[in-house]
Amino acid sequence: MNLHSGDPFWYVKNGLLYSYPSLCADLKTDVLILGAGISGALAAYYLLEKNLDITIIDKRDVASGSTCASTCLLQYEIDTQVSELIQKIGKKNAIQSYLMCRDSIYEIQEIDKWLSLKSGFEIKKSIYLASLKKDVKKLEEEFILRKGAGINLRFLEKDQLNREYNIEAPAALISEDGAQMDAYRFTQELLNREAIKGVKIYDKTEAIKITYEKKGVKIITDNGYTIQAKYLVYANGYEAQDYLNQPYSRLHSTYVVVSEPIDKPPFDFVLWESARPYLYMRTTSENRIIVGGKDEVFYSPGKRNKLLTIKTKQLVKAFSKKFPDIPFIPDYSWTGTFAESKDGLPYIGKHKDHPFSFFSLGYGGNGITFSLIAAKLISDSILKKKVPYQNIFSFYR
Ligand SMILES: Cc1cc2nc3c(=O)[nH]c(=O)nc-3n(C[C@H](O)[C@H](O)[C@H](O)COP(=O)(O)OP(=O)(O)OC[C@H]3O[C@@H](n4cnc5c(N)ncnc54)[C@H](O)[C@@H]3O)c2cc1C
Repeated sequence: MNLHSGDPFWYVKNGLLYSYPSLCADLKTDVLILGAGISGALAAYYLLEKNLDITIIDKRDVASGSTCASTCLLQYEIDTQVSELIQKIGKKNAIQSYLMCRDSIYEIQEIDKWLSLKSGFEIKKSIYLASLKKDVKKLEEEFILRKGAGINLRFLEKDQLNREYNIEAPAALISEDGAQMDAYRFTQELLNREAIKGVKIYDKTEAIKITYEKKGVKIITDNGYTIQAKYLVYANGYEAQDYLNQPYSRLHSTYVVVSEPIDKPPFDFVLWESARPYLYMRTTSENRIIVGGKDEVFYSPGKRNKLLTIKTKQLVKAFSKKFPDIPFIPDYSWTGTFAESKDGLPYIGKHKDHPFSFFSLGYGGNGITFSLIAAKLISDSILKKKVPYQNIFSFYR
């Protein structure tokens, strides 16, 4: 699958920090993690606590799949609003999934501290705008539900929003629980730390055949070697869909533009809105502004790439409409494939066709917080701990 094209900012900025050998012998391992993106790196992190033999393989360079193309807004807010999610999965589970996303932001912060603060992780307010007047009532309903669930947020009407944040919109939810980071750097640093602790990592090593045996899983790689694993973790992002018997997601094409550094960004929070497809924004530590969105519902890398120039212009125009006094000079832009599930939640855990295996499929706008939730639930299953709330994210929900 062609996951992205153009110039993903973090990829260009950091380059490849660590490279690993490709597999050059057969091996046996307790856990094989397929994919060295943020999902795979986090899964290994939570498995490290027990003395397990862990191996990670990736057909590309590490972290260079969707992880390097991410805009890395971390939000407790799932693409599906609480009120809609309640209709789909019930109130208890809907609220629980929001709370788990919120808590995962702070868990990522703890891991970043362990990595000596290398990922540019910063807690930021999250502002969710009503795009149109007709969205205000819905926002009020969301406010009541979220506040009742214990989430730290405020509802601001038009005038107050303008006074406090200098933003024109009919209303907004202002939440304290948001963050931003550089997931590419985070993943590379985390994998490096894991390798030092004994995790075996092989890049440019593709799993081309997977068979399920009596006591585990056998993986044949493109370079002709065999890996025998007691457990397999599918952390191979949107490409995991190829291993499943039915489509669990819809593929989108999404677009991002990053500005040249500016003197003073007009905001210091992560911003998104109720319109669909939505527009979102954040800043970087170098005072750049990142604007993303303008999604299209198709998977066709050729068609997706052809639209990059026009979508970049549309994103810049949308920014200028919100912040007319701020010059936005585009410096980097890229496009990527993106998957969305039917209820906005990820698929995590076992699938009946795949014994001894666990899936970490963070489909949806909160891919990174979903990766963290998946890593915890999967490692708890492998370590035979209690796995509360697994059913919320099950393939069979
Ligand atoms: C433009 C864009 C913006 C985004 N913005 C946000 C955002 O603001 N906030 C957010 O939370 N999420 C965002 N996301 C989503 C987020 O980036 C993803 O959810 C996350 O990066 C997925 O990580 P992953 O490790 O699961 O997948 P990947 O990073 O794709 O890693 C999977 C790895 O598996 C490897 N692999 C696949 N098949 C095989 C095989 N057969 N053998 C060996 N290796 C294999 C791949 O090479 C790849 O490196 C965005 C995504 C895009 C594209």
